[in-house]
Amino acid sequence: MRVLLVEDDTLLGDGVRAGLKQAGFAVDWVQDGQAAKLALETEEYALVVLDLGLPKLSGTDLLKWLRTQVSTIPVLILTARDTVADRIGGLNAGADDYLIKPFDLDELIARLNALLRRSAGKVTLTLQHGDIELTPSTHHVSKSGQTVELSAREFTLLHELLLHVGRVQSREQLEQNLYGWGEEVESNSVEVHIHHLRKKLGAELIRTLRGVGYVIDKENTR
Ligand code: CA
Repeated sequence: MRVLLVEDDTLLGDGVRAGLKQAGFAVDWVQDGQAAKLALETEEYALVVLDLGLPKLSGTDLLKWLRTQVSTIPVLILTARDTVADRIGGLNAGADDYLIKPFDLDELIARLNALLRRSAGKVTLTLQHGDIELTPSTHHVSKSGQTVELSAREFTLLHELLLHVGRVQSREQLEQNLYGWGEEVESNSVEVHIHHLRKKLGAELIRTLRGVGYVIDKENTR
């Protein structure tokens, strides 16, 4: 999942980026409202984590602009100012959730996963497909009840494919979910991770459409 992190506090931004990366998110981090606007105009994100007090363009104004772009991308706002008016302002401008600083990184990750589930129309805590189960909140995957160990990137790929069962994801789309800006993309990395997923979960789970991408088929069509 590719996340845009908008936070001008260097220390906090650095910590959040590291925590989200460890949880398997690809993170692009910008430090002012204008840079965030540019990023949102040029890249596709699954989520935005948005500080309200920002240089150049405030978080609230950015959010209002974003919601005029017919964007339904989930936005979680971070606010240091624990005033009811700020939170209401942010929610009225189109935020989906908020956290008050200082916050717990695990809580942030749990809330982002909840937003992802909601935006994908999934309300269950665990994604299930045949004998495979994936629980985003605990990063747990099992096959026939047996735990399967996956790397963070393998997990992210499987999560992405399971959120879009029956819809083909191109290699480029999948890559975007694996890497943030400035991270070097190994040319065959998606293929390598898919290869590992097939070894761990069964060769038939993920279907390759040559030159198009990858898909996990709906259960009743197989
Ligand atoms: Ca700030």
